[in-house]
Amino acid sequence: METKIVRLGEGEKDEEALREAGKILKAGGLVAFPTETVYGLGGDALNPDSSRKIYAAKGRPSDNPLIVHVCKTEDLYKVAKEVPEAALRLAEAFWPGPLTMILKAGDLVPRETTGGLDTVAVRLPSHPGARKMIECAGGFVAAPSANLSGRPSPTSAKYVIEDMDGRIEMILDGGEVGIGLESTIVDLTVDPPQILRPGFITGEMLKGVLGAVENDVTLFSAAKDQAPRAPGMKYRHYAPKGDLAIVQGNPEAVVRFVNEKLKEAGQAGAKTGVIAASDTAGKYRADVVKTIGDRRDEEVIARRLYGILREFDDENVTKIYSESFGDEEGRTGGLGQAIMNRLLKAAGHQVIRL
Ligand code: AMP
Ligand code: MG
Repeated sequence: METKIVRLGEGEKDEEALREAGKILKAGGLVAFPTETVYGLGGDALNPDSSRKIYAAKGRPSDNPLIVHVCKTEDLYKVAKEVPEAALRLAEAFWPGPLTMILKAGDLVPRETTGGLDTVAVRLPSHPGARKMIECAGGFVAAPSANLSGRPSPTSAKYVIEDMDGRIEMILDGGEVGIGLESTIVDLTVDPPQILRPGFITGEMLKGVLGAVENDVTLFSAAKDQAPRAPGMKYRHYAPKGDLAIVQGNPEAVVRFVNEKLKEAGQAGAKTGVIAASDTAGKYRADVVKTIGDRRDEEVIARRLYGILREFDDENVTKIYSESFGDEEGRTGGLGQAIMNRLLKAAGHQVIRL
């Protein structure tokens, strides 16, 4: 199939492009679009065929549910069987924005969209183009991240084109996204509510509104004997093609250890890579060293992470070491939790503690 690629940010023409996208979605087609978190691969959430097409285009297992994107809070009542008061308070505090809520699914939402579950994931994005497109599409757009299953979520249209060109009807190119990690997911069908995926809206922010909130046990550990509550989490996500390990310890020791390992790997024929903060990046001897940003600037690290993982793929790096960023155990808060959750997944939980 021929994929139409349209740039957003061109003023009046945007309106036309978003309307055309809405038409494609209403007719059962697929459109990739920018949001404030990562690019989404959208289909009509109320049309089971559209959801089937999303799974096919991504190569995603069909028991991994999709998030339903809406353009106004009231639409919660159309997709959820019950809207608890907590959902309204969270919507008031964080919508539009990077927060997804899990609620009991209403009858309007096909089980193809919820991966067979009787719960539904709902989000109201803050990206104005995304909201307009959802409105033009009839109000309910199912959208997982617009990557092939198992690859890092796309943070820029060029990565969407890499993965989706020829597989879907349209790609809306809105440049680089703002946040770079997927939305926070909070399950409101359990008491206390549980964070199934950490993101820009942190545990502390949720606590401020909800009182109590817990982390799902699988967020920071491999926990092979525990079934994650967000079905998507049982799959190895966000994986670069090269073998990635995270090294933790004091910065000097990490540099020394990693340089030794890089030497061995290089001698064994590997193309080597490192992900490092700005203060230590110059000390590594690898084929490719990626500086992710200032260690204290978590927003920059979050925005750069997926792009870096993809760049390693493009450069055919086979052995990668990463420094640890933020909070590896999820004890403290902040965006560090979301960063480490994704990095741990990308590394298949390979962590070397010095
Ligand atoms: P993606 O949009 O690719 O980041 O994937 C959507 C994520 O939301 C996956 O990890 C899903 O497992 C999760 N999700 C969607 N719907 C539900 C639900 N009803 N219950 C739990 N997790 C969900
Ligand atoms: Mg995804």
